[in-house]
Amino acid sequence: MIPSAVCYRCDRKYQDDRVRCDCGEPLWFDADSTGVDFSTRSEAQGLWRYAELLPVSGLEGIATAAGRTPLVRSRRLDRVAGCRVYVKDESENPTGSYKDRGSAVAVSRGLQRGTDVVGTVSYGNMAMSTAAHAASLGCECVVLVPTDIQPGRLELIAQYDPTILQVEGDYGDLYHEVLKLNRDLPVSFLPSDAPGRISGYKTALFEIYESLAPETPDAIALPASSGGFASGLWRGILDLQNAGLLETPPRLYLVQTAASDPITRAFDANRDEVSALSTEAVGETIAHSIGNPDPPSGTRALTAVRQTGGAVCSVTDDDIRDAQRQYAQRSGLCVEPASAAPLAGVARLGARGEIDDDETVVLVPTGTGFKEMGTGSESVQTETVTRSALSSRLESRLSG
Ligand SMILES: *Cc1c(COP(=O)(O)O)cnc(C)c1O
Ligand SMILES: [Zn+2]
Repeated sequence: MIPSAVCYRCDRKYQDDRVRCDCGEPLWFDADSTGVDFSTRSEAQGLWRYAELLPVSGLEGIATAAGRTPLVRSRRLDRVAGCRVYVKDESENPTGSYKDRGSAVAVSRGLQRGTDVVGTVSYGNMAMSTAAHAASLGCECVVLVPTDIQPGRLELIAQYDPTILQVEGDYGDLYHEVLKLNRDLPVSFLPSDAPGRISGYKTALFEIYESLAPETPDAIALPASSGGFASGLWRGILDLQNAGLLETPPRLYLVQTAASDPITRAFDANRDEVSALSTEAVGETIAHSIGNPDPPSGTRALTAVRQTGGAVCSVTDDDIRDAQRQYAQRSGLCVEPASAAPLAGVARLGARGEIDDDETVVLVPTGTGFKEMGTGSESVQTETVTRSALSSRLESRLSG
């Protein structure tokens, strides 16, 4: 098992499973990947394929079902995106989002280190994922949600039977609050950027490289909020580089919602650090999975972008709705609004001259859209026909 967490910025090491370095930046596990050769790997399933690079002694239950998602060549999206599109379909994880990679590793590690209760601050995919993985391992789980949570979301989380507490007051502040609770109470809150989660997220990068070989991607585009997933992909790139398996890293493109885009603002202003947006600077968005105005791993994500020669950009809700439609109608994928954002973002970056039309770009739809379908908010036009008129109506409707 990997023993210590390390800071990407100042290299300080810690033996306990704290989340943040004394310098203020988040930690991750730095596995020694020298000599790792994926091509001679056994047929191990899911994340366990990368066992020696993970901070756990084994995976059980639903953790063995995380990862190993398909990489799909989606030709009909090329024209929309302005490049050669592959889609890494993270909706095919057990609870429908990439969060399962992180929960598989972080919850397992917690248990293997003697934790009895895990916790999470989320009213969305992170909450579902953490609660499901805890249920599968028989570990108690606490979920902190805001008081104005929608009943449908509560239902999605509650099915796994965690202890749910609705917390009053500023929900955004809870990240730092639960790090304190971790020190004072016998509970392990596993926030978006807990080191174990980052280890889980990096497996998505390994899979992309294995699926695409011998080709390599020029860029990878993903939505970013707290910066945990972006950190994980960067950690994966560094592991591959340390193993001597990767010369030119893919450019990482992060896409945010224009309603809450602190990382884009730092990138555009050429700053090295991401700072929190004020309440007045944050708007409403349909992309609720990427609305964090104070991203705990924002600066690390920005560093990943700079180190790989990528960029950060923002898109509007209208762009996102259109991208969601394009995903469904051109690739057959039902993705949630946050997950559609990179398609719109890549089109925008292409228009700016950042991406050439012959370049290979992996878009990562991070979560399924099925959780939000069926609420009846979209009106659908259909036609009613009698059985006797069916054949003739069909004939006139078929265009081919
Ligand atoms: C959590 C989440 C994100 C944002 O990931 P971060 O690690 O917070 O940057 C994007 N898309 C979906 C579907 C998510 O659930
Ligand atoms: Zn540090």
